[in-house]
Amino acid sequence: MKTLTKFSAALFSLSLFTPQVSAQTLLNLGGQDHLCSFAPDEVFDEQIYSFSSSKQAEDLVADILSTVGLVPRFQIYAGNVPNAAAVIDGDQRLIVYSEDWIQNEIANNRWAAVALLSHEIAHHLNGHTLEAGGSRPPTELEADKFAGFAVGKLGGSLQDAQWLFKQLSASGSDTHPPRGARLEAVAVGWRDATGGQVIRSTPKDEPSTPTTSSVAGDWFVIAGSYPHASVAQAEILLHRLQAQGLPVRLVNTDSYAKLSNGLYSVVVATNSRSSAFHALEGVKQYVSDAYVKKGN
Ligand SMILES: [Zn+2]
Repeated sequence: MKTLTKFSAALFSLSLFTPQVSAQTLLNLGGQDHLCSFAPDEVFDEQIYSFSSSKQAEDLVADILSTVGLVPRFQIYAGNVPNAAAVIDGDQRLIVYSEDWIQNEIANNRWAAVALLSHEIAHHLNGHTLEAGGSRPPTELEADKFAGFAVGKLGGSLQDAQWLFKQLSASGSDTHPPRGARLEAVAVGWRDATGGQVIRSTPKDEPSTPTTSSVAGDWFVIAGSYPHASVAQAEILLHRLQAQGLPVRLVNTDSYAKLSNGLYSVVVATNSRSSAFHALEGVKQYVSDAYVKKGN
């Protein structure tokens, strides 16, 4: 842990889910001793600039916090850090993450991003960043356990939860425990969340899909599509949009002649082209690249 000794007061007035200034702000980490990082031996730049966070990162944080029913008591910023860190200044809790890292992970392995942010969020939720002494193995393991818990609650497998940790070196350090202990902590958290079984209300087991609903129609606003193997990620988007009040549902594209097969799509189903384009406006508030397509 390292302390942000001088941090723009203006930054503190900003909240997580409100529009933020786009200009970057220089964080002064001089004399730094209160920063919880993810891996041992991470090197932080002398000068760290913070930028307003991306929608994707904020969505990930919202998904993670939904697993414990909490509202954020911290603010999140992009910045030139190795991956992510929990930092504190006075009573202000901050998560600073690398937009570069997160964007690449979302594209390649979203669960890695979920695990990383969950780990850092846990440092704040557990009050680690309020304690003196910085990162140390017991608090790191608590944070790792929550990472496993969050991935499990959001529908990921144990392998999904542990993937990021398997990239670490086997040996630990003064601040971070060895990899084997961290994998164990993740497994315990994942088991606590899931009872040992992947949580997924598998769409193919659900009887009510749009194929059986003549009311809903097959003019779809498509918010996102995922291969069948990635149904858990489709469900994360589904639940996120449902939480915004959108009447989204999951459809199996195999049931529709004009859709590419092999996918689960998160859609708003309507009866007509005009209804679909009307609904599109609402969906675009949350998914900017949503589009309209007819299923049959
Ligand atoms: Zn940590």
